[in-house]
Parts: sequence; C-alpha cells; structure tokens
Amino acid sequence: MRLFAAVLPPPDAVAELSSAVGPLRSLPGAGRLRWTAPADWHFTLAFLGEVDEALLPALTERLARAAHRHPPHELRFAGAGRFDDRVLWIGADGDRTALRDLARSAAAGARRAGVEADGKHPFRAHLTLARATDPVPLRPYEEHLAGFSGAPWTVERLALVRSKLPASGVPGERPRYETVAEWGLGH
Ligand code: ATP
Ligand code: MG
Repeated sequence: MRLFAAVLPPPDAVAELSSAVGPLRSLPGAGRLRWTAPADWHFTLAFLGEVDEALLPALTERLARAAHRHPPHELRFAGAGRFDDRVLWIGADGDRTALRDLARSAAAGARRAGVEADGKHPFRAHLTLARATDPVPLRPYEEHLAGFSGAPWTVERLALVRSKLPASGVPGERPRYETVAEWGLGH
C-alpha cells in the first residue's frame, strides 16, 4: 500500500487557510489547476511509497517511538511558494525546527523498519494547494498569498496516511487519503 507520514492540521486552521485560498480560484488560469481539497490538507513528513503490508507492524512501532520522542510544538500557515509552475503550496512558520526533527525521526524510524523514505530532497515543510500538469504561471497566486499568516496551532500528532491513487484515466479524480494510525507527540 502507498503510505506517507504526515501532520494533519486542525479544522480551525484548515478553515482559515481555506478562506484565504478561496479567492485564488478566480485568478486567470485557475481552471487549469487541480486544487487540493481542504479535508485532504497535510504536511508530508516522509513519503514512504509502496510498502509491503508485512512491514506494517514494525513500521507503526517505529513511528510510534518517533512520535513519543518529540514534544508538541506550534506552527502557523505562512509563506506561499511554488515548485516551478506546477505546484502551489503554503509553508509553515513557528517551530519549524521541531517539525523538521520530527520528519527526520519519522524517516529514520521507517528506515529501521525496512521502509526507505524518499530522500531525494531535503525536508521542506509545504502543504500543496494546487497542481498543474502543464505549467501555469503561479507567481500571481504566490503573490496573493504572500501576506497571509494564519493563527498558530499545535502539532499534537503524527499520522500514517494511506494514499489510494485513482484509477488511471479518470479525469479530475484525486487520490483518497485514509489515516491508518496516529500517535500523540510526546507521550
Ligand atoms: P497525485 O500524485 O495524484 O497528484 P498526491 O501527490 O496527493 O496526488 P501521493 O502521490 O500519494 O498523492 O502523495 C501523497 C503525499 O506525499 C503528497 O503530499 C505528495 O506531495 C507527497 N509525495 C508524493 N511523492 C513524493 C515523493 N517522491 N517525495 C516526497 N513527497 C512525495
Ligand atoms: Mg503525488
């Protein structure tokens, strides 16, 4: 099954961000973007990819330990960015060091369970808001969100999420995320 470790923001923070993102949908080119659903919003800490079900017990054990070693910490949504002209995202402000450390622990824990986390890029906290298959000039979107800084919220849990990719060829269909397990930080 396709898995990733993530932080899921609380409903209030999601609602606030959703209000800020709403107006972007009427910018030129917005129709060519695939917007992520607020209910799906997350910060990926470690992308694990296809994982053999037999490794799940060891993986959950290691991720539980990683969660327990890190205390809850504060974040806020802030700082829009883009990857080329294909991915529009919002970043995080606040205790970003704590988030990065948690991400490293999750990846290291997964590795010890025999699951290699995608390590191509250094960890960069970003929540994907929209994607484009063919490049769309995203700078205006980034600029619209540049001044946005959300209310602080507390990262309380580490989640292991399953991603079920849509059957290929179904236009507009998104992967379905399912939380497989969650662990409170610091306990
Ligand atoms: P889609 O791939 O259909 O656009 P998605 O990216 O939301 O949808 P997944 O590909 O299952 O669904 O990815 C789940 C999460 O992991 C997303 O936040 C995605 O950005 C991230 N992710 C996917 N692949 C990688 C990767 N190779 N390295 C790091 N993060 C990844
Ligand atoms: Mg993907």
